[in-house]
Amino acid sequence: MMRDLASKKISIRGVVQGVGFRPFVYRLAHEHGLTGWVLNHSGGVDIQVEGPPAALAAFVHDLQAQAPPLARIEGLDVAGALLVGYETFEIRHSVAEEGRYQLISPDIATCSDCLRELLDPADRRHRYPFTNCTNCGPRFTIIADIPYDRPLTTMRHFVMCPQCQAEYDDPLDRRFHAQPNACPACGPHIWLVPSSRFQVPSSNRKLETLKPETDDILTQASRLLQRGAILAIKGLGGFHLACDATNEAAVRTLRGRKGRPAKPLAVMMATLDEVRQHCSVSEEEERLLTSPQCPIVLLPWKPESTVSRLVAPRNNYLGVMLPYTPLHHVLLQDVARPLVMTSGNLSEEPIARDNDEALRRLGHLADLFLMHNRDIYARYDDSVWFVPCIAGGEGSVRNPQSAIRNPQPIRRSRGYAPFPVKLPFKARQILACGAELKNTFCVTRDEYAFLSQHIGDLENLETLEHFETTIELYKRLFRIEPQIIAYDLHPDYLSTRYAQSAIRNPQSAIPVQHHHAHIAACLADNGWSSDDGPVIGVAWDGTGYGTDGRIWGGEFLVADYHGFRRAGHLEYLPLPGGEAAIRNPYRLAIGYIYALTGRLPSLPSLGAGEEELRIIQQQIDQGINCPLTSAGGRLFDAVSALLGVRLRATYEAQAAIELEMMAQIANRKSQIVSYPFDIDEGQAGKVIRLRGLFEALMADLWSEMSVDEMACRFHVTVAEMMRAMCQRIAGETGLRTVALSGGCFQNRLLLALVLPRLREAGFRVLLHRQVPCNDGGISLGQAVIANLQSFS
Ligand SMILES: [Zn+2]
Ligand SMILES: [Zn+2]
Repeated sequence: MMRDLASKKISIRGVVQGVGFRPFVYRLAHEHGLTGWVLNHSGGVDIQVEGPPAALAAFVHDLQAQAPPLARIEGLDVAGALLVGYETFEIRHSVAEEGRYQLISPDIATCSDCLRELLDPADRRHRYPFTNCTNCGPRFTIIADIPYDRPLTTMRHFVMCPQCQAEYDDPLDRRFHAQPNACPACGPHIWLVPSSRFQVPSSNRKLETLKPETDDILTQASRLLQRGAILAIKGLGGFHLACDATNEAAVRTLRGRKGRPAKPLAVMMATLDEVRQHCSVSEEEERLLTSPQCPIVLLPWKPESTVSRLVAPRNNYLGVMLPYTPLHHVLLQDVARPLVMTSGNLSEEPIARDNDEALRRLGHLADLFLMHNRDIYARYDDSVWFVPCIAGGEGSVRNPQSAIRNPQPIRRSRGYAPFPVKLPFKARQILACGAELKNTFCVTRDEYAFLSQHIGDLENLETLEHFETTIELYKRLFRIEPQIIAYDLHPDYLSTRYAQSAIRNPQSAIPVQHHHAHIAACLADNGWSSDDGPVIGVAWDGTGYGTDGRIWGGEFLVADYHGFRRAGHLEYLPLPGGEAAIRNPYRLAIGYIYALTGRLPSLPSLGAGEEELRIIQQQIDQGINCPLTSAGGRLFDAVSALLGVRLRATYEAQAAIELEMMAQIANRKSQIVSYPFDIDEGQAGKVIRLRGLFEALMADLWSEMSVDEMACRFHVTVAEMMRAMCQRIAGETGLRTVALSGGCFQNRLLLALVLPRLREAGFRVLLHRQVPCNDGGISLGQAVIANLQSFS
């Protein structure tokens, strides 16, 4: 009989550990009547199987076709082997190998099997907030090192009860080797702690001596939320601040305490049906919402929604997510209304992680703390995505020609990091430190770019510490010792200073221009190979340090990974007062108009008095504290203020966002034409002149035209500028591919207007798909540029 049998060795790389891969292989081998073994090692999974050739072929096919939901197979090699004559199929013990590493699964939302158990009164995990299995639950946030085994996770303190242990040991059980496996008898638990600011109502004195039963605590917590309390809730990657999203007073209180007057807050809703009551949900958006990653998705917000408008003031979109842990599921069901769920921090600080830290940092923000004792190793914010389609007019769902249905991340964090972006070339071990705002860093090796989770705005020591400890974690997990460090050209960024202090050999330091990094990130995001040649890169954002020391951000580059040439840009205009102009867009509007026309605008709507106008004039005339910028983001800010939409901003890009929301109204109505603008052909490249645009806008301000129509005409003008510039650059270079990157391309209307124009002009257009177009994607661009520069 031995004649009819064959033997194969199979080695698999990818996310194949901690996702139920070995039990899956075990079951599959039994199904096909094969013998042999399966083994985990630090580099992946090895299998040897023996049986009839047809069964072996079917087994190899099914390995890929039926892999568990969380497995990601990156490579599968099959080789013939000598027949040993195994009699059974077995799961062998893990082996750790020096220097080998594995891909680590991100944390994954509660699966449908676990959810069913959670809601089943007869199940032993009924309403247990830490239910998980090999298909779902925490992963990255609880790992200190590889291999991914319980002793190296924050679950090491919990000893499994006999029932959990039996599940853990049974290859046919859904919880076979589920490292965070737990139940009410042996696992983590929750409790409530009133904060110092919490006034215990006299009728409810027993709160001070809360009973430890999980169910009482959940009931108590949901009642408090229903009555308008603000709870700090410990989740997967840190604390959220939560309150009833339909309770205007509660939302106002939360905003006041957090020092966040207007920046949109995210909302968690119990079910997809509930989401549909508040927002329109397209097919693509539904897929994102219900995916195992379960991100926040920015959805068109229905006027009839009962969620308080204070949650996202003057915004047409609401950031919504579904529950992604058992605790969230039970709580949302009990509260029976949408909850605001925003990162537990003061503005601009990292999300609070540990219980003590939360009490210290959030004590003045929350009334009560809903805590648990499963420690979090890595801080992990919620991810945010959007599908660029807009309602009505150009770029709408009803206009499939211009509708953009491919989702894009705005923040890539929970559910995605640390899964790598696959690079189109083999990389060296490099660390790229990213930019300042929305920082992420990136480490590379082999064909992988490990982009970190969202770190935050690197403007304070808390965030810097988060940045540094997370770099150490990635170096350890992926066995990377970077020889080269890339960083932003800006001399004052904390990430730049970190890079300079970490570099031992000056030759291994590679500064990268901000907008070059944006375009390289977009190319890598699209799998652009290192010898595909240059593209036209349109990089529009708020701020980026230029090679001439000025603030760039309305840039047209001819670029690839190896280098770039600045082919054109928006004309330089003053930022009177520097940072003050960014926070006060009305100062920008005044400065732009004065610089362009030589006259100070006499528009009472700008709210500046005689004295302030005179100071701005002086700053510009004498060049005092008045840097020059070509930034597209600033152009949006200035126009927003000029039209009276937003004079002072309390969060980044607020003026531009509110301008877009106005413009979307007019976009539905009619065909809108561009304002005039000019392009100068200079020695140093093409420059877009803005005088015509501002003069026309000021003329319209005195006409009958509505603000939404002017806002929309401005968006059309920007799209026309981009088309005109790309066409001219193409005329000289013959390039037919355009990459769009930079924070301005989070503007749905701009995307909807510019994309069809570029396509009509015959361009292939590259948009971001895996990493954000904003500064959260910068580190990927720095990493690929440094990789290719370091070879030459
Ligand atoms: Zn599960
Ligand atoms: Zn147990």
